[in-house]
Formats: sequence, structure tokens, C-alpha cells
Amino acid sequence: MFFIGCHLSSSKGFLAMGQTALSIHANTFQFFTRNPRGSRAKPVDPADVAAFLAMRQEAGIGTLVAHAPYTINPCSADQRTREFARQTMADDLDRLEALPDVCYNFHPGSHTGQGTEAGIAQIAGTLNAILLPTQRTAVLLETMAGKGTEIGGRFEELREILDRVTLTDRMGVCLDTCHVSDAGYDVAGDLDAVLTAFDKVIGLTRLRAIHINDSLNPVGARKDRHARIGEGCLGREAFARIINHPALQGLPFILETPNELPGYAAEIALLKEMKR
Ligand code: FE
Ligand code: FE
Ligand code: ZN
Repeated sequence: MFFIGCHLSSSKGFLAMGQTALSIHANTFQFFTRNPRGSRAKPVDPADVAAFLAMRQEAGIGTLVAHAPYTINPCSADQRTREFARQTMADDLDRLEALPDVCYNFHPGSHTGQGTEAGIAQIAGTLNAILLPTQRTAVLLETMAGKGTEIGGRFEELREILDRVTLTDRMGVCLDTCHVSDAGYDVAGDLDAVLTAFDKVIGLTRLRAIHINDSLNPVGARKDRHARIGEGCLGREAFARIINHPALQGLPFILETPNELPGYAAEIALLKEMKR
């Protein structure tokens, strides 16, 4: 099964997102758990979730990806910022329990000068504080571009976080094609080598979702500027190889390209055309 979708606005609820997804021929989607900048989260509406789950089953919508707000930073040097991240993530995970078959993806964070080791310890500490054995949502670390003091640009850093989380079987990884390329992994030029490295360091069984984005910048640029599929440095052919790679089958592929809905619809059509 080829699960392809894009990031959608969550302001109108789950049923509306499901309907929007179907309107652009998507069969999965990603959404922010709350306003990407702000802090306030709307309570989950049980009627909306129930209506969505009915249509989801009918339409065959696959695993969803919930994205934590960009602004949280579990490894900031500022204690209050770390505390805010912990509370936000705990609350997100609590609310996501209402929704089956969803992953919760977050950016590991930026150590803001504390150093990678200290940052990794704080990220793992946050996860150990919020993960509960009863939760059914998988929590995903996103591979990052390695911009500034960002943690997660190297697979080894993600491995270290996973190793320090007690409930590590609840954890997975979301691979962002723009980010890994920016971080220095040549996904466009040598996909096999990148996936072999991922498997060796992290393990492909940890891989739960793909953010499918082209990059405005060349390999190793560490910029994190997304481009539409085929309009960046990775190029259209790279994405044909990515979506058809045997190691990546069955995963949700989520577009986070600079687009409105018609643009996403066109990209989804293009990717479906390239799918063998
Ligand atoms: Fe992200
Ligand atoms: Fe991403
Ligand atoms: Zn990005």
C-alpha cells in the first residue's frame, strides 16, 4: 500500500482534515497538535473523532502523523523553556490517546550552547518523564538538518536518545528527506548508502514515517529550506527512487512542501504516477 499525504491545517477538526485529504487523493495526512507557534490546544471533540474514524475506515486512510509545535525545545538552556516542552508534549500525548493509529513526531531540539551531550540527556529525560506504558501512540524523533545547535542531524545522536529512553519500544524515527540531505546524507545521490547507514546506526525497524520534501540547498547545506518535489536540489528522480525503495514500503509519506492544496494535489498525483 502506498500511503501518501501532506500536512493539513487542523483548525476545523479531524473529519474536515479527512475530507480534505480525500479531496486531494491523499490517504494519510499530518497535522499540528496545536497552533505551531502558540501554546493553547483545543480539547478533542469526541463526536468529531468518531465521525473521522468512521470515514477513515471507509476510505482506507492509513497511519496519521501528529506534529508537535515547532516552538517547543526540550533541550533549551532555559529551564522554563524545557518545562514548557515537557508539559506541551505530555498534554499532546494525553489528547492523542483519543485517536488510534497515529504517530507523534517532534523535533528533538536545539541545545542552545549547552553541547550535544547535555542536550541529548535533556531530551531523553523529557521522554522518560512523559512516556507512559499505557500510551498507544508511537513517539517519533525527526531527523534534522543540523542547523545551528540542532540535535538530530546525525543518526548517532538519535541513536543515543533512543538508548536512553526507558520505554524505548514506544519510540521511532521520522526521516525528513530535505533535512537528511541538508545534514549531509546524500539521499538523492546514494539512497542505498543512506538507508544502510540508518539501518546500522538506528535500525530500519525504527523508521515509522517519511517527510517527503525537496531541498532548496545542496547536500550538507544545513539550511532546512523545503522545496516542492522536483523543484529543488534533490530532483524528481530522487523521489521516484525514495517512494519505490523496498525498505520504505508501507510507511506514511508526508509532503511538507511550500504549497496550497492544489499544489499538494499535483504533487500527490505526480508521486502516484512515479509509484511502481
Ligand atoms: Fe518537522
Ligand atoms: Fe519534516
Ligand atoms: Zn524542515
